[in-house]
Amino acid sequence: MAIREILTVPDPRLRRKARPVKKVNKKIQALFDDMLETMRAAPGIGLAATQIGVDLRLIVLELPEDEEENPLAGQPIFMVNPELVSARGREEEQEGCLSVPGYVGYVERATEVTVQGLDRHGRPVRIDATGLLARAFQHEIDHLDGVLYVDRLKGPDKLYRIVEAEEEGEESGGEEPPAGL
Ligand SMILES: [Zn+2]
Repeated sequence: MAIREILTVPDPRLRRKARPVKKVNKKIQALFDDMLETMRAAPGIGLAATQIGVDLRLIVLELPEDEEENPLAGQPIFMVNPELVSARGREEEQEGCLSVPGYVGYVERATEVTVQGLDRHGRPVRIDATGLLARAFQHEIDHLDGVLYVDRLKGPDKLYRIVEAEEEGEESGGEEPPAGL
């Protein structure tokens, strides 16, 4: 496994539409291992292959274990060729991206989604996701289409720069910034 460089804006490779994976083989599995290691080191809770400059439809997600309401929390989810099958509800929430460091935005997304694709062994998989996991799936699938969350903001007032505690000169009393995706 190896930690890859995460591309950041305005790298044009973040704007490419990734190609579908034809065959899930050892190369893909090795790529998934690198993606997981890179995501954990960032640290983040989601990563698309596009973000490490790989032009293939692959995503990795891993919610923190304390996301108790989510049965898939604390275990990595690997998906090849993920597709949004259906989406329900709308909610505006804070979102951050490993490729847009230093910023968070308020983004409207579906609250519940059904996603299908292949797992890391090439077997078909279908996941019903809610809350943070649903948001993370939508964010990562967007990456595969060259779309960033900043494209989905309703206005410039929805984007905020993260102010580090040190810069404030005292402990930050505010909310923790959202985990990177
Ligand atoms: Zn992102």
